Amino acid sequence: MPGFARLKDSYDLVIVGGGHAGLQAGLKAALLGQTAALLDRGPKYSRSYYAPTMDNIPGFPEGISGHKLLDLQIAAVRRAEEAVGYFTPARAGRVERTETGFAVTFEWLKQEHVARGRALVLALGVVDRIPEVAGKIDTIFPWANQGIVDFCILCDGHQLTGKSVAVIGHDAFAVRTALDILHFRPTSVHLLTHGRPLLDGTPEPDASALRAALGEHGIGSTESPMAGFDEIREHRFGVRFADGSHRSFDRGFSALGWYDMHDAIPRALGCRFDPDGYVVTDEDCRAIADATGEPIPGLYAVGDLRNGWNQIPEAWATAERAVIHAYASYL
Ligand SMILES: Cc1cc2nc3c(=O)[nH]c(=O)nc-3n(C[C@H](O)[C@H](O)[C@H](O)COP(=O)(O)OP(=O)(O)OC[C@H]3O[C@@H](n4cnc5c(N)ncnc54)[C@H](O)[C@@H]3O)c2cc1C
Repeated sequence: MPGFARLKDSYDLVIVGGGHAGLQAGLKAALLGQTAALLDRGPKYSRSYYAPTMDNIPGFPEGISGHKLLDLQIAAVRRAEEAVGYFTPARAGRVERTETGFAVTFEWLKQEHVARGRALVLALGVVDRIPEVAGKIDTIFPWANQGIVDFCILCDGHQLTGKSVAVIGHDAFAVRTALDILHFRPTSVHLLTHGRPLLDGTPEPDASALRAALGEHGIGSTESPMAGFDEIREHRFGVRFADGSHRSFDRGFSALGWYDMHDAIPRALGCRFDPDGYVVTDEDCRAIADATGEPIPGLYAVGDLRNGWNQIPEAWATAERAVIHAYASYL
C-alpha cells in the first residue's frame, strides 16, 4: 500500500521504540547497509515530545523543541525506507527468542503482525509521572508545554537561575531534587507535597538528615493538595491549593519520578536491572542477562531505557554503539 511500510519476512534488526534512540538506530542501520523494522507507538509518546526548547542539541544554537527534532529524525528515517520499515503507530507486545534471533509481535493497522530479526534493539524509553490534579494529569500540560514547569534537572536546571521554584513531590527524591536545584542559584525553592506528609515513608536516619538540609537552606513546604494552576499569561506558575490559599512562583519543577520504566519486555527476556530500574548493559549496549551476568546475544538496550543519563545526545550515542556492534558481529 503506498505510504505504508511493507513488512518483510526478516530483518537484520528489529528496533522497538522510535524516539530519539530508536530513530537513530534505524538510520544507522540503513547507513551500514542493514535492514531494520522500526516499531513505534508514535512520537507523542516520546519523552521529549513536550519539551518546548532543548538547549544541548548540537547544530541548534537557539534551541529546538522535542517534536521538531523528532520530525527531523523521522524524515531522515523515511528517506531510508528501502532499508528501514518504519511502522507507526505500532505497539509491540510479546517478544520471543527464536533459533535465528528474535520475533516481536506488534499491533499495526488494527492487526497483529510479527517482525523477525537477527538482533533486537530495545529503545522503549521511560515515562514521567505527571502530577494528578483533581483526578486529571492534563491540568498541568499547558504550563509544561510553555516550559513554565520542568521535569528534568539535567535538561533545564540552567534555566532556574534567579527564579523562585516550586518543586512538586513529597519523598526523598523530591527533597534531593529541591536541594540539587540550589546548585543553579534560584532565588528560592519551595516544596509542594500535594497532600502527602513531607518525607512520608523515608526511613531514618535519612529523613532527619534531609529535614536538616532543608532547614539549613531555608526550603519550606506546603502540604495542602494542589487544586489548580493559573497565571499562565504572566508566564508564571500560580498554584491554588485545596485550603483556599494561593502561591505564585517563576517556575514549577515536577519531581515525581517515573510512571513506567517499560520493563515488561526486557524482564521477559531475562535482562538485569539496576537498583533504579534501568536495564544494565555493557559499553556496547548489550543487555546483560540477570542469570549469568553475561551479555544476551543479539539483544541491545539504548536510550533512556538503559542505565545512563537520560539525555538525547546519549540516546543517539547508545543507538550508534548498539547498531555498530550488531553490524560488526554480523560481519
Ligand atoms: C520535559 C522534558 C524535557 C527534556 N529536555 C531535554 C533536553 O533539553 N535535552 C536532552 O538531551 N534531553 C531532554 N529530555 C530527555 C529526552 O527527552 C530523553 O532523554 C529522550 O527522549 C530519550 O530518548 P529515547 O529514544 O530513549 O526515549 P523516548 O524519546 O522517550 O522514545 C521512546 C519511544 O518508545 C516508544 N514505545 C514505548 N513502548 C513501546 C511499545 N511497546 N511499542 C512500540 N513503541 C513503544 C514510544 O512511542 C516512544 O516514541 C527531556 C525530557 C523531558 C520529559
